[in-house]
This record gives sequence, structure tokens and C-alpha cells, in this order.
Amino acid sequence: MPPTSLYLHIPFCRHRCGYCDFNTYAGLDDLMPAYTEALIAEARWLAAAATEQAGQPLPVHTIFLGGGTPSLLPLDAMQRLLAALHEAYAIAADAEISLEANPGTLSLEYLAGLRAAGFNRLSLGVQSASPHELLVLERQHDFTDVINSVMWARQAGFDNLNLDWIFGLPGQSLASWQRNLELAVDLAPEHLSLYALSIEHGTPFKELDTRGLLALPDGDLAAEMYELADVKLAEAGFVQYEISNWAKPGPDGQPLACRHNLQYWRNLPYAGLGAGAHGFMAGHRTANVLAPAAYIKRMREATQAAKQPTLPRTPATASAELVDVQREMGETMMMGLRLVREGVSQDGFAQRFGNTLEQAYGRTITTLQRRGLLEDASGVLRLTQQGRLLGNQVFMEFV
Ligand code: SF4
Repeated sequence: MPPTSLYLHIPFCRHRCGYCDFNTYAGLDDLMPAYTEALIAEARWLAAAATEQAGQPLPVHTIFLGGGTPSLLPLDAMQRLLAALHEAYAIAADAEISLEANPGTLSLEYLAGLRAAGFNRLSLGVQSASPHELLVLERQHDFTDVINSVMWARQAGFDNLNLDWIFGLPGQSLASWQRNLELAVDLAPEHLSLYALSIEHGTPFKELDTRGLLALPDGDLAAEMYELADVKLAEAGFVQYEISNWAKPGPDGQPLACRHNLQYWRNLPYAGLGAGAHGFMAGHRTANVLAPAAYIKRMREATQAAKQPTLPRTPATASAELVDVQREMGETMMMGLRLVREGVSQDGFAQRFGNTLEQAYGRTITTLQRRGLLEDASGVLRLTQQGRLLGNQVFMEFV
């Protein structure tokens, strides 16, 4: 059985930032103990169903706690969660076990506890080093919190550290972004994720933007910021391996990519556990009920009723949609092309689908190659430099 990945969603934050459309809530901390129990129950439920089907525990090679702000969960909850996962699944000895954390919610003691519990990769939501930009984003930390978090993470033994940064912020100049990049490099992380600010429906930022009150950089400036990152990070020894992700080379010379996210980009199976979590299991795209209280209620009632598990559903599943081959091929293209070095392998695609890339998408690929957005590099189809800037246009061709 090929190894799968587990995503666990922690939907608690201290404050809802104005740009955020994630399934997360401020002021629900009282639910944390019951939510942790529900998460453990759902993890066990899915494990039991998978074991029943395959006759052996599901092999897992990456675990990712995302949010929200997972680092708001107390240490004993983290320890209970990981212990339950180890009991229920066949977790690889070298599994990547990541946690998203916000600077300002961490201490050396907490990080040392996480490391001892088995977490081996930390992803910090830095977003900006500028006090003004952090204020605009409504973040609850300052850059001193970031410096302390990185220092404590290193002291606690984390040797695989990611920093998330956002560019294209309201009022942000190219000079300010350059300063951000320099400070990001100075912190010496193994991995950097740089995202362009996107204005999402239903957020306060959308409302401000609609009223013309967000001074967003125009498309040209945002593209210059992206290209500056490309140059500055290459100079600092980072290798870009995905549209928004850069990593230092590891011991084998390959970039220290986030193995959990590679599972998504390669369109391979993963379980989504927790309120609003999405998964791709047993050929189905699954989505869980959104509200944490409803999630807890569903898991509690199902556990009491001792229902029988059936893949890919758990009691928290709100929808499970079968993915047909045509859609799976399209998704494999859209996500695989995000991997700017690895791309989509001609052989790999043919082995997986029994259809060559030429048979499935010949005309589309030829058109995109003529437009200078795609290239064939020794049997691997991938974005060109120009294609990285216009990635969304390319991906839409495979929908
Ligand atoms: S801390 Fe992160 S997840 Fe929480 S509201 Fe802000 S952006 Fe969203």
C-alpha cells in the first residue's frame, strides 16, 4: 500500500486577520479539549476503516497540523494527538511531522515539548518583518517575536524550519519587499514559502478593496516582487521547487521540500481530519463539516452509537465526491505543474493513467508551448520562467 498523509485542522486563532478566509475562529478556546477528543476519535475512525479494508494499518509518511493556529493547543493535547496517531496508523520511522505556529504564541519550553513529542518540522507564519505591514494584516505578533521563535526553535532542536511570508501587501514598495527578503534570509530557515496576497470573498479586505480603500500594488509591481524573490533567494542558496516555495539543498543535494505538500502537488492520497478539513481518500474528494461545535457533536454521537466505519467517510464528512479519471488527470496536471523543477513526468503520467500526455492533452500542451509557457525538459513537462508568472492561465487549460 503506498504511504498516505494526514492533515489535521486546528480551527482556533487569537484574532481573525482581515485577509483570512480559512476555517478558523477567535473566541472558541473553550472548545479545545472537546475538539482534541473529537479529532482523536476521527483519526481512530478513519484508521479502523482503512485497516478493515486493507487488512493492515494504513502506512503514513507525513503528518501536518495546520490551521488556524495549531500552536494555541496546549502541549498535553499535542502529545495525546500524536500518541493516538501512532497507535492507529503505521507511521514511518522517518515521517515528516509538521506544525504550523504563530510567532507570539510560542516559548522555548513549549517548542522543546513539541520536539520531544515527535514534531520535526515547524512552519512559522511570519508574513512580514515591517511593523506597519503587520498592523495592516492585523497580525498579533511583531518581528521580535519572530526572532525569538526562530531562536527557541533552534534551541529546541528543530532543524527543518519554514517561514511563511506574504508580498503584494497594501502600500508595499519594492524596497520594503527587498528588506523583507533580506531579513528572511538572515533568519537562515531551511525553507521559505512566499505567497502573493490574494483578496478573498467574504473577508474584510474584500470589503475594503471593493470600496477602493486598499492601496494594492498593481500586477507589474507584484510580478517585480516575485522576480526579485527569485533572484535574491537564488543568491542566498535557495532552490525554487514550487511556484511559491523555496528550500535549501538537503544532505542529498535536493531541496528540503515540504514532503507533506509534495503529496498534494503529486495528487496522491491524504486524509483531512478536523472541522472543514479536505481529503483525497479512496478516489474521493472529501470535506468535513465546517463548524467546530458541529464537528465535535458529530464525532461524539457517532462514537456513542458505535457506528461501523466505511472509507472514505467518517461521521464528520459533509461531502464525498468520486473523482473520475478525466478529473484526476486534470488535477494531476494543475497541481504537478506547480512543481517548477519536477513538473509532470511523461512516463509517470502514462503509468498512472494508461494514457500518454500527448493522447490526453496534446493540443493544449502544443498551444501552451507555442505561447512560451510550457517546456518539455527530457521527458518532463514543466512551466517556463514566463509560465511561472502566468501559472493560473496555464492551470485553467487543464480544468
Ligand atoms: S492567524 Fe492565520 S489562520 Fe488565523 S486568522 Fe490570521 S491568517 Fe487566518
